[in-house]
Order: sequence, then C-alpha cells, then structure tokens
Amino acid sequence: MKMIDGHTRTCGLIGNPVEHTLSPLIHNTLAKQLNHNLVYVPFHVEEGQVHQAVDGAFALNILGLNVTVPYKSQVMDSLVQIDDLAQKIGAVNTLVRCEKGYKGYNTDMPGLYRALASEKIKLEGQEVILLGAGGAARAVAFMCASKNVKRVYLLNRSVEKAKAVADEVNAKSGRECIYPMALENYNELPDQKFLAIQATSVGLHPNVEHAVIEDQAFYQRIHTGYDLIYKPRDTRFMQLVRENGGCAFHGLKMLLYQGIIAYELWNDVSVSESMAAQVYKALEERA
Ligand code: NAP
Repeated sequence: MKMIDGHTRTCGLIGNPVEHTLSPLIHNTLAKQLNHNLVYVPFHVEEGQVHQAVDGAFALNILGLNVTVPYKSQVMDSLVQIDDLAQKIGAVNTLVRCEKGYKGYNTDMPGLYRALASEKIKLEGQEVILLGAGGAARAVAFMCASKNVKRVYLLNRSVEKAKAVADEVNAKSGRECIYPMALENYNELPDQKFLAIQATSVGLHPNVEHAVIEDQAFYQRIHTGYDLIYKPRDTRFMQLVRENGGCAFHGLKMLLYQGIIAYELWNDVSVSESMAAQVYKALEERA
C-alpha cells in the first residue's frame, strides 16, 4: 500500500461481524506487491442497512466490496447486474463498480476451484462426496455440476435440505448429477474411493474436537479430503482422512484465491502464482 493521498482508491468488506476477517491482509498485501494506491477496510453493517451501505459506497466512489455473512444473498437486490454463476448460486461475495452501480460476482467457487487446482486435485469426471447442504455446500454443488463431476453424493444431517439443494442444482445445470442422502446413511455409499469435500461447520474453531462423521470405516472410502474450514488448519476431519491413508487439505487456499480473484476483478490485473504464494505465507502466519 502506498501512502494514502488524494488518489487512493478504497475497497472493503461489508458483513456482520467483520472483526475477525483476514481479507484486509490479502488485499493490502496485494496492493503493496503491485504498487497500487489502494486501501482495503472492513465495514460492519447492521441488519437492515445493506442497501444503504451499497448505495453509500457507490456515492463515496468505492471501487469494490466483498460481502460476507449474513448478506451474500440479501445484497443481490442492491446491484445493477449479476454475473451468471453468482445468479445460479444465489450468492454474491464481490461487488465490482460499474457505471451505474455495482455488478455482483461469486469468487468463492472459482476460488475453491483454483485452490483445488493448485493442489493438483481434479474435479472433472470424479465421484465426489459433499458433506453439508448450507450456503457453502450449495455453491460447491453448483461448481461440481458445472465442472462435469460425474456424480456428487450430497450428505446432510437434514435430508430435506440435501434434497432441496440437489433438486435445484440438477434443474439449473440440466444434469442429474447430485444425489442427496441423509448423513447417517453414509454406509450406503458405493464401495469405492472418493474425493470428499467437507462443507459443514462441524470442527470449526472453537469446537475443534469433532468431525461430522467419526466412523473410521467412512474415511477408508476417501482418497482425498478437502475441508473448507481453515481454523484450525488441521481439523478432526483431516486427521481421520490421513489416518485412513488419504491426503487432506484445509480451506485457507480457498480463502486466498477468492480474495485474489476479487482483486483481479477490481483492478483488471492478473496475480501471478509467486505473488499468490507470498500472500499465502502472510495468511499462514496470521490465520
Ligand atoms: P451454513 O450455511 O450454516 O451450513 C452449515 C452446515 O453444517 C449445514 O449443512 C448443517 O447441517 C451442518 N451442520 C452444522 N452443525 C452440524 C452438526 N452438529 N452435525 C451435522 N451437521 C451439522 O454454513 P456455510 O456458510 O455453508 O459454511 C460451512 C463451512 O464452510 C463453515 O465452517 C465455513 O467456515 C466454511 N467456509 C469456508 C470458506 C473458505 O474460504 N475456506 C468459505 C465459505 C465457508 P443442517 O443443514 O442439518 O443444519
């Protein structure tokens, strides 16, 4: 980041809470590396104030915003345009300034895709177990469908939610590739090895001692486990995957790349892998 002056561009994050965010570290490190005169700040927005926040940001000439919980869907009513993927997913996490207002994007899913690619994990043609049916899992299911995953077994505690997500993703993607299941029926999965994406909130700090499924037999079916959680960086899910011979990854690179893609959209630049590695190092030190 350069010295703040009359030319400094502002980007930021709107959400509630925002106090725990690592996004300023990502964007201010990138601005410094790229010698951009840009500053990124978190804005705590109260419930019911999202529309005013977006309008106010536009009036203040803010270049771009990230959006976090609980406003990723709500913010869509305040935008002049929404990218196709974000529209399908039904969630926006990045606003890019255009002539009459902001255009909404979802960089969480391309972020996850880039994170998987950086670990040499391929989605195309794979059989995937997806744990969870909340906001993150829903978006992962859309991404799997759009990346030609062969089949996704979507396991969730509330099976109705799993069914609703599967119906929606299958209908919108025009492929019957998401198979909903109750979480407790995991022993009915076909007897083979899977890539498993852990998208429940079980195991998230401070409740770190549990995984959403504790049975070792389940983990014998997993060759690669990707946990969206990055705090802690070694979750119980990851430990169980490794104990049963699989490779395990946490979600910090997903966080990194969703930020990088947003930064690229705001500034019309391409962030190199060596720059990404430096930002990741800073994140690892702080997360
Ligand atoms: P969410 O919408 O609240 O969904 C939570 C999910 O966890 C639901 O499927 C829920 O099942 C399940 N769950 C919660 N407690 C459970 C329990 N005790 N037993 C079984 N299942 C349980 O949350 P989200 O926004 O999707 O986020 C999910 C996780 O992804 C969070 O840990 C978040 O930190 C992480 N995440 C990471 C990134 C990243 O950049 N790395 C980005 C987004 C999210 P029910 O439907 O049955 O309640």
